[in-house]
Amino acid sequence: MPNPTIKTRFAPSPTGYLHLGNVRTALFNALLARRHGGTFLLRSEDTDTTRSGYEYFEALLEDLEWLGLDWDEGPGREQAGHGPYHQSERGDIYAHYYALLEEKGLVYPCFATEQELKMIRKAQLAAGQPPRYPGTYRDISDEERERLLAEGRKPTLRFRVPEGREIVFDDLVQGEKRFRTDEIGDFIIRRADGTPSFFFTNALDDALMGVTHVLRGEDHLTNTPRQLLLLEAMGLEAPTYGHTALIVGDDGAPLSKRNGSASIRELREQGFMPNAVNNHLARLGHHYEDEGSYKPLAALAEGFAVDRLGRAPARHDAEHLRHWQKEAVLASDTARLEEWMGERVAHLVPADRRERFVEVIRENSVFPADAEAWAEILFVGETPFSEAAVEEIRGVSPEFFHALLEGLEEDAGFRELGAALKDATGLKGRKLFMPLRAALTGRTDGPQLGDVLDLVDAECARARVQQARRLNTAEDA
Ligand code: GLU
Repeated sequence: MPNPTIKTRFAPSPTGYLHLGNVRTALFNALLARRHGGTFLLRSEDTDTTRSGYEYFEALLEDLEWLGLDWDEGPGREQAGHGPYHQSERGDIYAHYYALLEEKGLVYPCFATEQELKMIRKAQLAAGQPPRYPGTYRDISDEERERLLAEGRKPTLRFRVPEGREIVFDDLVQGEKRFRTDEIGDFIIRRADGTPSFFFTNALDDALMGVTHVLRGEDHLTNTPRQLLLLEAMGLEAPTYGHTALIVGDDGAPLSKRNGSASIRELREQGFMPNAVNNHLARLGHHYEDEGSYKPLAALAEGFAVDRLGRAPARHDAEHLRHWQKEAVLASDTARLEEWMGERVAHLVPADRRERFVEVIRENSVFPADAEAWAEILFVGETPFSEAAVEEIRGVSPEFFHALLEGLEEDAGFRELGAALKDATGLKGRKLFMPLRAALTGRTDGPQLGDVLDLVDAECARARVQQARRLNTAEDA
């Protein structure tokens, strides 16, 4: 159902390049918004980062645009009353809400030092209890507080978690979730150096920016009860959350560089197509009714549904990504593909044959390097022969090459050439066509032979067949 009031968001902390793991979160949120004709918002959670964070953010914008996951609202696309979209620029807004919580008596300064907290944790662990802030500075007297402040101690600000309650929410992916507040220690919403904490800024900004749905990784699930409490305390409306299963690598461990993750930049440099990445990721932890078919981005959105998000860890398999890459190449239009094949192909393939080349070679290309290899095979004189090709070439008699060269001289078409070779050697079927393919291309795989003959540069073909003839009679490979 269209529902333009739906607003989702991607809220990365720009501490590195976008990679398969975090871009899936962006994709799911973008697809959910587009599915309903809603809004996809982008926010930079950069309270904790330095200048280099800014560079990562610029890179991230570029990567999202490359993937076609443009944001409807966010940096450069302001909506009155919602910006700024960099948390580092929202200090005044945060100050306002800290003051509100202070006024309501729902937060308090905590003077616990790192050392003190460490000791508490140690004692709790030793007693077999989960480590949790025990409320040491929750109820100190006003005098005590004044005294510590006068000493120049810099407190953090903690949220007073209400006692004896149960927080219940319906997770879009995981169903009903329940958390007891007695198991949640009072948590920090402003650090001693004055910077705001994730719980606070993330929840507050979602509410102030009108976000209605948040899809994010399961690792954030236990943050949600805290964020719901905070929003309730500030009198703000909470979004609906959905926590998606994490992506794991081929070894079952969380996806990382070590077990198969790659940055979007690396994938782009390798020649992956953006919508291959999208098709792959849209099926990691989410499935489509017609699972097998490649989809343009709009169709990925059309078929997206939160009730098709899975709870089991999603396994990233590089072979699957490669499969979608092949599909994306097959689905691309000629002009786009020509550009993708790159300058070397443009240089080697004569302009009048380029379009035909692109059409024929797309089936045999997963990456631009494959297209380059075919451009060399079809338009550059000699080429290395594969072992299998040499074997085919050694399996026929010298008459084969004689007839083949003659046929090429006469500019024979595929049928004529086949017939001439059959007459000269008595070979037919695979026994005839494999050596022919090997002699013309140096390989035993590739496009239809008719297409090869159509495309191949005549001089190049003759040089190749001469090369094959020499291999045919040579003692050693
Ligand atoms: N900045 C957080 C992160 O990158 C956002 C988490 C969320 O989606 O709520 O993990």
